[in-house]
Amino acid sequence: MYPVKTFLMTELLAGLRLTLKHFFTRKATVLYPEEKTPKSPRFRGLHALRRYPNGQERCIACKLCEAVCPAQAITIESGVGPDGTRRTTRYDIDLFKCIYCGFCEEACPVDAIVETRIHEFHMERRGENIMTKDKLLAVGDKYEAMIAADKAADAPYR
Ligand code: SF4
Ligand code: SF4
Repeated sequence: MYPVKTFLMTELLAGLRLTLKHFFTRKATVLYPEEKTPKSPRFRGLHALRRYPNGQERCIACKLCEAVCPAQAITIESGVGPDGTRRTTRYDIDLFKCIYCGFCEEACPVDAIVETRIHEFHMERRGENIMTKDKLLAVGDKYEAMIAADKAADAPYR
């Protein structure tokens, strides 16, 4: 003996009604990578080392970022630069260790190390996970306008 609702197909009709309802509503999903969702200026992506507008490195090798890093992903060695100031001779970030917490950026007194909104990066060879000083400065040089705009947008909330 089949129940009445089986003959009346009420469950099927309820399902079709739900399908029809969602067919015409605005979709929450995006077609990545063609479509992208907006990102916060505080987004914690690929790291960069910044320079001042005159080209001088911001980093003063104070090693606060290295000390605060909970993953011990940062390795810094320092020396005296050509202008007599303390500068890094080595600044490495191991992206395999990094947990993208943003503590290094928070600790930096001169806004030298930052996490950019770049998240589309990958490694193909052993060792590419190490972001050396040159690579970090290159990211900073390339995206300085974006980094400065994100810093300015976030400033009122800090
Ligand atoms: S984001 Fe966090 S884990 Fe990554 S290097 Fe900075 S302090 Fe270390
Ligand atoms: S990046 Fe900032 S916190 Fe790290 S050593 Fe340089 S000045 Fe200090």
